[in-house]
Amino acid sequence: MLLLALESSCDETAVAILRGEPRQPAQILASEIASQIELHRQYGGVVPEVASRNHSLHLRPLVEQALQHAGVSIHDIDAFAATSGPGLASSLLIGATAAKAMAAAAGKPFLAINHLEGHLLSPFVETGIVPPHLALIVSGGHTLLLDVAAPGRYVKLGGTRDDAAGEAFDKVAKMLCLPYPGGPEIEKTAAGGNKQAFAFPRSMMKEPGFDFSFSGLKTAVLYTLSERNPETGTASPEELPDLCASFQEAVIDVLVTKTIRAAKHAGRDIIALSGGVSLNKTLRAAFEAACKKHALTLATATPGLCTDNAAMIAFAALLRAFEGHASPLDADIDPNLPLVAAGNAG
Ligand code: ATP
Ligand code: FE
Ligand code: MG
Repeated sequence: MLLLALESSCDETAVAILRGEPRQPAQILASEIASQIELHRQYGGVVPEVASRNHSLHLRPLVEQALQHAGVSIHDIDAFAATSGPGLASSLLIGATAAKAMAAAAGKPFLAINHLEGHLLSPFVETGIVPPHLALIVSGGHTLLLDVAAPGRYVKLGGTRDDAAGEAFDKVAKMLCLPYPGGPEIEKTAAGGNKQAFAFPRSMMKEPGFDFSFSGLKTAVLYTLSERNPETGTASPEELPDLCASFQEAVIDVLVTKTIRAAKHAGRDIIALSGGVSLNKTLRAAFEAACKKHALTLATATPGLCTDNAAMIAFAALLRAFEGHASPLDADIDPNLPLVAAGNAG
């Protein structure tokens, strides 16, 4: 089956074409991304109106580029998919409407996909098989621990009560006058620092349950900055690496501790990491070491599939399509689309 998927939930316009058969590694024939990071950097974050306008500008040429790279014609595509939420309403509408229009014109099925399911399944694109596992999604807007029995069978164990992990990276980077997006900048700067220089809090780490909270950590960084440098309120170049390393370590410590505990609680021996924050090499190394210690297996997505992309959306759609699912053409977008229905919150 050949599937074309669009992703436009935030500031990346993405198109992917995947070839897949049930329980076979999916073949990514094309995965195109028109990133708007440079455009939004001047504002220090994503501006919704700018994002949606650029999605409409980029989408059509990107679809043509994807078809060309994949070496297939639009007539060969068996199903069309798009992210239907969560995300920015005006951005989601562009991709979802375009995918529906293509599906209607071609007389082929349309699949509306949850962006978070795309992230969740991204570590398994290369094998095509999703084993029962414990999933940690760490992205710009979410920090979610889920028990995964099979694709589509998700039980939420915990989530963030305030900021997401990626959001904490981005906000702390802003305080430190580092460019947007902050995650990669903090990782780079932390490489030369001492992770024990500042004793930042590990919120909710010892509490029972699997929820997270990162706003206290963000505030602790803010207080440290205003205490040390009351005139500027930001970090001096000398203390920047230590601050980044100590902040990063506090985030990683909580994520690793709670995820290992959740895996044991759920009785899973595989942990899968996804989302943009899972690109962080120090975080990956900490998870690798902890999984080794606890005899667990770690699954991660290849770097190109960690931040927003359409290949992960196409893979989630393929798994649905194999089951004979399709979405109605009047399926709406939902900026707050939950991954797990409220009654199944675990
Ligand atoms: P969501 O999927 O929740 O809607 P999103 O799509 O914006 O949010 P992603 O694209 O998965 O999130 O990831 C972007 C986030 O990942 C940003 O917050 C960014 O700072 C963070 N990030 C990217 N690279 C790194 C890194 N090396 N270390 C830490 N964080 C990182
Ligand atoms: Fe995302
Ligand atoms: Mg993004």
